[in-house]
Amino acid sequence: MENPGWTNWGGNQTFRPATFVRPKDEAEAIAAIRAAIAAGQSVRVAGGGHSFTPIVQTEGVLLDLSNLSGVIKVDTASQQAEVWGGSRIADLGGPLWEWGLSIANQGDIDVQSVAGAIATGTKGSGTNHGSMSSMVRSLRVVSGRGEVIDIDATNPEHLHAAQVSLGLLGPVLRVGLHLVPAYRLREENVILPMTEVLRQWDFLLSEYRHFSFWWMPTDRSSHMYKLGDVPADHCFVKLLREIPADAPEVPVGEINRRTDRAHLIYPDGTTIAEFHELEYMVGAEDARDAVKMMRDLMWKRFPDEISPLQVRWQKADQAFLSAQSHRDSTSISVSGEIGRDYLPFLKAVDEVLRPFSARPHWGKIHFLDRGRVQEIYPDFQRFQSVRKEMDPKNLFLNPHLKELFG
Ligand SMILES: Cc1cc2nc3c(=O)[nH]c(=O)nc-3n(C[C@H](O)[C@H](O)[C@H](O)COP(=O)(O)OP(=O)(O)OC[C@H]3O[C@@H](n4cnc5c(N)ncnc54)[C@H](O)[C@@H]3O)c2cc1C
Repeated sequence: MENPGWTNWGGNQTFRPATFVRPKDEAEAIAAIRAAIAAGQSVRVAGGGHSFTPIVQTEGVLLDLSNLSGVIKVDTASQQAEVWGGSRIADLGGPLWEWGLSIANQGDIDVQSVAGAIATGTKGSGTNHGSMSSMVRSLRVVSGRGEVIDIDATNPEHLHAAQVSLGLLGPVLRVGLHLVPAYRLREENVILPMTEVLRQWDFLLSEYRHFSFWWMPTDRSSHMYKLGDVPADHCFVKLLREIPADAPEVPVGEINRRTDRAHLIYPDGTTIAEFHELEYMVGAEDARDAVKMMRDLMWKRFPDEISPLQVRWQKADQAFLSAQSHRDSTSISVSGEIGRDYLPFLKAVDEVLRPFSARPHWGKIHFLDRGRVQEIYPDFQRFQSVRKEMDPKNLFLNPHLKELFG
């Protein structure tokens, strides 16, 4: 099929694979992967292209699994659903609602593919909620030997490796997700001075299902993420409160005062912004110190950088390469403005957060090398053992991932 080359959403990753394949169904996908393996070609999968790092890139075969989309089956008793890996998150909420189920937590956008989101540990915010990867109970993967392998809790070593895999264990065809009873959310977003956010920090964490905020270092910062007018040293605070699924229907309110099915409330306006983002996770107990150091860095050393500072929370999980692996976490993110030389700023952020054993979002800009990966993921060797078993010929590596895992 036509091979036009590939570019990510952020426009900072472009390449032309040797072959581009969009299989029409699972059988065709398996055949295409086996053909590539037989030819000794590397294989990567493109999801929604919403990662900023070169983790999709390949000189071999690039698969687009967007035809493998939708809900395959639902078990309401165990609150689990099997979905196609190429499904966009946005395409699942409606059908799952009909089964009386919802995804327990979501990020700020829902246009990612399910397999792409879990490959990088995509998450939202909430001290009682893990990333989407933490909800994964099973996966169907095609290994580097061309075998179709169904991974589940009967082999926890494989499951914890596959929950956040960066696509290194092979193309993911199906994903089994643990869900929760359907719920609605009421959005109660507010703008608060930073002093007030610091004062109410613990209260907001315990009171709301989702508490996160963007701190604005300058008066222009909120415009970068299309968050309206928020003055310097104030925060756009995203607050979501859970209300019962059978709460009376109310008209959908204006932005910041919406009430609706959870999956319709999580996505916010940041989808339409343009930026290149870095996001690092620190231990939740270090959050206040890390935020203070970031404010100092931005005001004192980089007064020309306008990026908002986003702060979110996630519960610990057991996935080997998860940023939340064995650690309740707080994520801290900033962005480079497209068109500016933002790397000195992002490198300085890396240096400030490194002493906290910060772990990056795998889909966002980071400065890890092999040594640091080994140092900050306690289960790195366990991941590598599974990776070598699943991909003995290293066909799922690309140059970027070879530096970190090869
Ligand atoms: C505007 C914007 C907002 C964002 N908001 C959030 C947020 O709120 N929370 C958050 O955590 N992150 C967020 N992200 C980051 C984003 O969720 C991740 O980068 C995610 O991985 C993107 O999913 P994708 O489908 O676009 O995957 P891609 O970026 O296309 O791919 C990601 C990785 O998954 C692999 N992959 C994709 N499909 C498969 C498959 N079927 N089998 C095996 N490997 C596969 C790819 O090869 C690649 O390694 C945001 C990004 C943007 C641009």
